[in-house]
Amino acid sequence: MKYAKVIIDISHEKLDRAFEYSVPREIEDVLKVGMCVDVPFGRGSRIINGYVIDISKEPEYDPDKIKPLKGIKGGTVPIESQLIRLAFWMHKNYGGTMNQALKTVIPVKKTSKPKEKKTVRLLLDKENAMTALALFERKGNKARARLLGALLKEDEIPYEIVTGKLNVTSQVIKALCSLGMAEVAKKRAMRNPVNAMPRGGYDIVLNEEQQNAVRKVVKDMDDGQAKTYLLKGVTGSGKTEVYMELINHVLKKGRAAIVLIPEIALTYQTVMRFYKRFGERVSILNSRMSQGERYDQYERARAGEVDVIIGPRSALFVPFQNLGLIIIDEEHETSYQSENIPAYHARETAVARARIAGASVVLGSATPSLDAYYRAQSGLYELIELKNRAGKAHLAKTQIIDMKEELNGGNKSVFSSRLKNEIDMALKRQQQVMLFLNRRGMAGFVSCRSCGHVVKCPHCDVSLSFHKSGILKCHYCGYETPMTFTCPSCGSTAIGSFKAGTQKIEEIVNKTFPGARTLRMDYDTTREKESYEKILSAFANQEADILIGTQMIVKGHDFPNVTLVGILAADMSLFAPDFRARERTFQLITQAAGRAGRGEKEGLVILQTYHPDDYAVRAAAAQDYEEFYNEEILYRKMLKYPPAFNMLKIHLQSESKADLERVSDELADFLKKAAAGSKGVAVIGPSDETIAKINDIFRKQIYLKSSDIRLLVALKDEAERFGEKNTKNVNLYFRIN
Ligand code: ADP
Ligand code: ZN
Ligand code: ZN
Repeated sequence: MKYAKVIIDISHEKLDRAFEYSVPREIEDVLKVGMCVDVPFGRGSRIINGYVIDISKEPEYDPDKIKPLKGIKGGTVPIESQLIRLAFWMHKNYGGTMNQALKTVIPVKKTSKPKEKKTVRLLLDKENAMTALALFERKGNKARARLLGALLKEDEIPYEIVTGKLNVTSQVIKALCSLGMAEVAKKRAMRNPVNAMPRGGYDIVLNEEQQNAVRKVVKDMDDGQAKTYLLKGVTGSGKTEVYMELINHVLKKGRAAIVLIPEIALTYQTVMRFYKRFGERVSILNSRMSQGERYDQYERARAGEVDVIIGPRSALFVPFQNLGLIIIDEEHETSYQSENIPAYHARETAVARARIAGASVVLGSATPSLDAYYRAQSGLYELIELKNRAGKAHLAKTQIIDMKEELNGGNKSVFSSRLKNEIDMALKRQQQVMLFLNRRGMAGFVSCRSCGHVVKCPHCDVSLSFHKSGILKCHYCGYETPMTFTCPSCGSTAIGSFKAGTQKIEEIVNKTFPGARTLRMDYDTTREKESYEKILSAFANQEADILIGTQMIVKGHDFPNVTLVGILAADMSLFAPDFRARERTFQLITQAAGRAGRGEKEGLVILQTYHPDDYAVRAAAAQDYEEFYNEEILYRKMLKYPPAFNMLKIHLQSESKADLERVSDELADFLKKAAAGSKGVAVIGPSDETIAKINDIFRKQIYLKSSDIRLLVALKDEAERFGEKNTKNVNLYFRIN
């Protein structure tokens, strides 16, 4: 006799436990996890739908009380079953309850009124449009100019892309319409995806490297092989064109594609590239959408109205009936790691979903994560490389500047003399400059030069940041206090903020280059809705000469007029207390450097550092991924870090310090005993988190390392069971690798 655990499809709130049913003999061999079944439920044994999440030989409940399930639901396998299998996989691998996993995967049903698909169309001919554009530009009507300029290029643009990504308000659209220059058109008819290329057509011919990449994947697909590929291509090598060609192939076969792009890189330019190629078969998801809007998109996907979805990591759960391809662009991005429970990683989860759906996965990056490259090296993924920039652009030259020498030479400024000169020259040539700083706020921490005291948040174990308005702020809990002018510890007045942040750099730039127009993009200037797009489009429109920013500015934007990129404090992130700090630093520098010389003009990157000999800095400057990888993987192997080893991190949190200490000691002992039987598992800790207290909640961690991931998953299950029994005031969270 077999027994099936079934999640009942009544309402999503009630999905939090599985019910057990016996499996009739006739269907024993055909019933599979993930199938939709009819089961008798509740009083009166009403027949309803359920999803099988587990099948076993042993019943968990009293066999006499278990009802038999009715049968497998006819027709096609509903897509939910695939997502439920995925939820089960996530639950198993990342911890948390099955309900939490299902909630992540299944959108809450909440229909908003269906929106009509609208587009904005140009009514003027080219000549008149150019004249009007020149007029708007002269009058400083930036938004009107932006919309008209975009319409000149595209003729017709979806309404929500105009108001969203192009950052043009509906008032501006109305104004252009009332001037008879544009109209808002309502769309009904559905177009065939392959014929959907809007006017203007599609004229890029893939180069040989790109064609080889496409051919390889297409051949595997046609042979019925669904694999995972790592597409490693230098910035500007044309990865996006490869993605689109593959999507085209998948669509022709009647299957759908999911494209994950970090939200911050999902710009107007990127969206339009996909729209131009696939027309209305494309839809976008973003985190600002309401649940209703999100659900509508899911419904459209389920109904087959769209077959390409672009979005951040949650787009992975779009219920396509016939998924053929998942693309993850900028695969190394940290935003692919979820912070909620289950703390899934989009890369692994994509591979799991693709396996269930029989789909292929393409991971793209100029600087692959060590995890992905390691898997490609060991043959788990197929490596495909694009070594040259497509089109006319070349990789920029990089110059490393040792800031210690600058200081010895008497230069105390944040700019090396070389960088200052280069900025001057770029401004004279009317070219644009990007300055990248790996920090935020006006200054890092406030410290005392006499005694070294650092002003910290009383609730969190982190330093407060100084803001221009004269307040000190905690970025974790929002605590604020006025700036102090005497040291609370020794009374000295030599207290202040000595590390420059983006705001400080902007002030210095304004003083040093008085004629230059600057824009700043960081956490503080992008908190408002659309502010991110506003800054980018202003810079793209050349409304500023210098863009100063944090890591936000390094993400995949094409500014052809940028010829100089200055990386200030390139090594700032090198010493963060995280075993991936070096990898992050390498990626950041490489990506930032990749911003220069995207157009036809030659680019230069000036990389200022206190550690010119560090291999992450050297390899990034040389744009040499292999050099970095070879050094870094040795270090990971030596210290038993992922990807060479697997690591389970258990977070423990409590309001009570005493409870936290007791429980983490007990759990560590328990795990050490449990692991003693299986060789090759190391239990490390408990220890304080880097930030030992946030918002008055104390935090500790325990690490487990092993070469065998299954051992860690098993120990995670044990720790969860331990947690259910023994940890009243202490919460446990799990992170694998
Ligand atoms: P990546 O995604 O690798 O950074 P993109 O796909 O954005 O690269 O391509 C960079 C630029 O090169 C884009 O402007 C793109 O239109 C152009 N490009 C890509 N492939 C070709 C090609 N085969 N011929 C001409 N231009 C190309
Ligand atoms: Zn002091
Ligand atoms: Zn705080």
